[in-house]
Amino acid sequence: MPGAVFFTDAFEAASMTLTDSSPGWLTLDAPVAVWIGLGSNLQEPERQVRAAIGELAALPESHLQAASRLYRTAPVGPPGQPDYINAVACLETRLAPRALLAELHRIELAHGRRRDGTRWGPRILDLDILVYGDARFDEPGLTIPHPEMARRAFVLVPLADVAPPDLAVPGVGILAELLERCERDGVEPLGGQAAGVNLSAIKSGATGYLEERSKNNRGK
Ligand code: AMP
Repeated sequence: MPGAVFFTDAFEAASMTLTDSSPGWLTLDAPVAVWIGLGSNLQEPERQVRAAIGELAALPESHLQAASRLYRTAPVGPPGQPDYINAVACLETRLAPRALLAELHRIELAHGRRRDGTRWGPRILDLDILVYGDARFDEPGLTIPHPEMARRAFVLVPLADVAPPDLAVPGVGILAELLERCERDGVEPLGGQAAGVNLSAIKSGATGYLEERSKNNRGK
């Protein structure tokens, strides 16, 4: 299918080559559609998430396609935490998964994120690779699709802002069906439109890509 790129083909074609244009980065020959989850519940969470979306837009070898609305969500995990602000961004990227994860960690660190080992504890900024094309990974330090996403309304609801309902989350299910099964209480959109990006400026590109992908999924 012209225009659509799926990870397994692209990754094999790239056969782990580094390109001259981006020394030090493992890149693919062709871009892949990736959805990234953002969350924060410390130090002005709304500002943290908006800034991080801008930083995703500036990643090398990548183009921001769309960003969801911001959502205020009830915390999951240790009690007594402030509410979270969550969003999802859609990127097209040529960064291979580990290179992308390293970039996300760099952004988290720049926001002052320190990992103290507390699972689901409060955080200044959390960036997760939710879906990476049609790839499935289960390796130390990197599982794709993100293992918790199917159960998390605070991921699925913003994801539905920037992905087609028939998005196939590899090995997990179809987005619309996952959404139907999850409890949406405690996930409220903030007022306003997009999360600090001009969606109208990028929408045509994203829509074209997502429609192509959607057609392909229907054909599978
Ligand atoms: P977190 O506490 O959510 O930042 O996640 C802790 C660790 O999860 C990170 O250091 C990553 O190495 C690992 N991890 C595994 N799978 C993923 C993924 N799909 N996206 C982001 N981090 C991941």
